[in-house]
Amino acid sequence: MRIGTVTEIKPLERRVGLTPSVVATLVAHGHEVFVQSGAGGGVGLSDGEYESAGGKILADAKAVFEAADLIVKVKEPQASEIALLTPRHTLFTYLHLAPDPEQTKGLMASGATCIAYETIVDENGGLPLLTPMSQVAGRMAAQVGAAYLLAPAGGRGLLMGGVPGVTPAKVIILGGGVAGFNAAEIAVGMRADVTIMDISPSKLALLDAHFEGRARTVLSSRGALLELLPTADLVIGCVLVAGASAPKLIRREDLKLMRKGSVLVDVAIDQGGCFETSHATTHADPTYVVDGVVHYCVANMPGAAPLTSTYALGAATTPYVLALADKGIERALSDVPGFAAGLNIQAGRVVHPAVAASQGLPH
Ligand code: NAD
Repeated sequence: MRIGTVTEIKPLERRVGLTPSVVATLVAHGHEVFVQSGAGGGVGLSDGEYESAGGKILADAKAVFEAADLIVKVKEPQASEIALLTPRHTLFTYLHLAPDPEQTKGLMASGATCIAYETIVDENGGLPLLTPMSQVAGRMAAQVGAAYLLAPAGGRGLLMGGVPGVTPAKVIILGGGVAGFNAAEIAVGMRADVTIMDISPSKLALLDAHFEGRARTVLSSRGALLELLPTADLVIGCVLVAGASAPKLIRREDLKLMRKGSVLVDVAIDQGGCFETSHATTHADPTYVVDGVVHYCVANMPGAAPLTSTYALGAATTPYVLALADKGIERALSDVPGFAAGLNIQAGRVVHPAVAASQGLPH
């Protein structure tokens, strides 16, 4: 198969879809790989490294889209990339279509087959290609939350872990899945006072057993959240209803329950955000303040740790890329358990039920 990867053009996104070692594996399997010149530059990978791996360097994204049938990326395609997609293309990347009707329309019009990393499932119902980035974003959420609690960043002037004789920051984590668990690991490691809320009692039981009292677990409900908000210093939003827009758990009027300089980190912003006052921000300008509460809502948090993220993502995507290349698109989707759930758009139609439902489209 002819496979291509391009330089990510979302603001400040430095990850890359294929590393030279994955290119070498694909070439060893008899495939041709086309790489846009400079695609690995954000993580210090040179064109020469891709060439040594057997990849062919092309000058720009247009040339890669023309040469390749399977395009492997990281973030959702931007308008100039959507314009290069045709019905012969398969696009394999994060799409996050539910809150993004404009991208959905563009991809439908392109006629391309679009497979989203984030809706592929594994045999246990987990999300294997969301997991590595949720691990990065979750761990980072605790770090950035701690940074924005400091006074120069607009926070309450609180040290996350406190000091002997002074209590630590109170952290609420909404959603105890992959991102929430990883946020809790780091927040607990920083000695914060951590409460994890989830609607799944079985998940709370696992978290409770894991943290052995170093983090509290609370069954998530509006009432329980409103009770905890007045004393929270940092709230990290990590909820997910797969393929659908995130539920808005903190409403605008709830902000007045919080103290000035408290911090909200909305990890779920890539699914529309779980706070009513969230809007997506970028690493260039990551925060804004509403009613005295600092909001951090960067939609591509792992983009700030491109080295860690590129290798973590690559390890997870490689078996799927190999299956697509070796078996062909149709057979790969039907043979690999859970892969078909990644199919979001095919021949101009949204075929993923939750994505279609979120935009009022038939499927
Ligand atoms: P996950 O499925 O592992 O966990 C989600 C959890 O939310 C589940 O435990 C679920 O029970 C819980 N939940 C659902 N509704 C809830 C509610 N009303 N109240 C409390 N809990 C609720 O998902 P994940 O992999 O941890 O991803 C979480 C979010 O992080 C997703 O939206 C994902 O797209 C996002 N994400 C964002 C970035 C970023 O850069 N901003 C990066 C990676 C992942």
